Amino acid sequence: MRILVTGGAGFIGSHLVERLLQEGYAVTVLDDLSGGRLENLGAVRDHPRLRILIGDVTDPVTLRRALEGVERVFHLAAVVGVPRVLADPLRTIRVNVRGTEMVLEACAERDLPVCLASSSEVYGKGIRWPAAEEDDLRLGSPTVARWAYAASKLLDEHLALAWARQGLRVSVVRYFNVYGPRADPDGYGYVIARFMDQALRGEPLTVYGDGRQARSFIYVEDAVEGTLRAGFLPKAFGWIFNIGRAEEISIRELAEKVRAITGRSVPVRFVPFSEAYGPGFEETPRRVPEVSRARALLGFEARVTLDEGLRRTWEWWRVCRRG
Ligand code: UDP
Repeated sequence: MRILVTGGAGFIGSHLVERLLQEGYAVTVLDDLSGGRLENLGAVRDHPRLRILIGDVTDPVTLRRALEGVERVFHLAAVVGVPRVLADPLRTIRVNVRGTEMVLEACAERDLPVCLASSSEVYGKGIRWPAAEEDDLRLGSPTVARWAYAASKLLDEHLALAWARQGLRVSVVRYFNVYGPRADPDGYGYVIARFMDQALRGEPLTVYGDGRQARSFIYVEDAVEGTLRAGFLPKAFGWIFNIGRAEEISIRELAEKVRAITGRSVPVRFVPFSEAYGPGFEETPRRVPEVSRARALLGFEARVTLDEGLRRTWEWWRVCRRG
């Protein structure tokens, strides 16, 4: 079976591609390399079952070519990461909405099952935590560019569920702060990737705000497992799944943990949000998933503890980004 992974050269995408190849599938990657990098596929680049297509998911000819011989799709291609979204909200909306619309239509035409990557960002500032999939959402005003990402992903989810009602076999995964090797500290701005980079260079860890804001982090290998289950299990179709880990940690504590695990005695520097992201930025003070649906329907539970995941991530950082 050949499987298309859009965004397959990205952080999560490349891990998913490796896993699918390990499981014996043939894989086509479609990626425009705007966020992804070919080096992310370095270990499998010459794999005989891997086909890599560089191109834009919103280009109909490219998409048609990418779907040749494909029996299942994981749609991960998107503009992601707070810095990227702030830099170009228009492109964020265009790629995330038009890209998904086109992928879903193409899958419907060909009767292909598809799993769509969404984000816990759709919960916005949140109403109650842990948040469950059917909870109400609380996004900020459209005058705050950050919410363009959440709005685009939310529309993607609506599209997916509308197509599911038409009989399309589609599932949605909402990722909660995925981290691990290959996370891009620059483009996406992922906090753990940034802390690892900073520790490696002996620079202060930049904690935004007072660092009391909290997140729950899931190691990429776990996120891939959850994605696979949501993409393959027939009972997943028509559902949205939180893919995350319930354990919560403040960013301030995270910085301490990174210092301890990396053994680099770098200081912590507190940076006001306005300095990090510009004036008028709105932060999400907490974000924790309710994970019972993924457990009940997918039999999925994140296994890698934060300590273990950080150790593995640091190991990769030291070796591959040279410490
Ligand atoms: N953050 C931080 N320092 C950084 C980058 C991020 O303190 O150098 C904080 C950010 O304000 C947020 C958390 O870390 O509270 C997670 O940020 P990230 O961009 O990884 O993901 P988000 O959850 O905001 O989408």
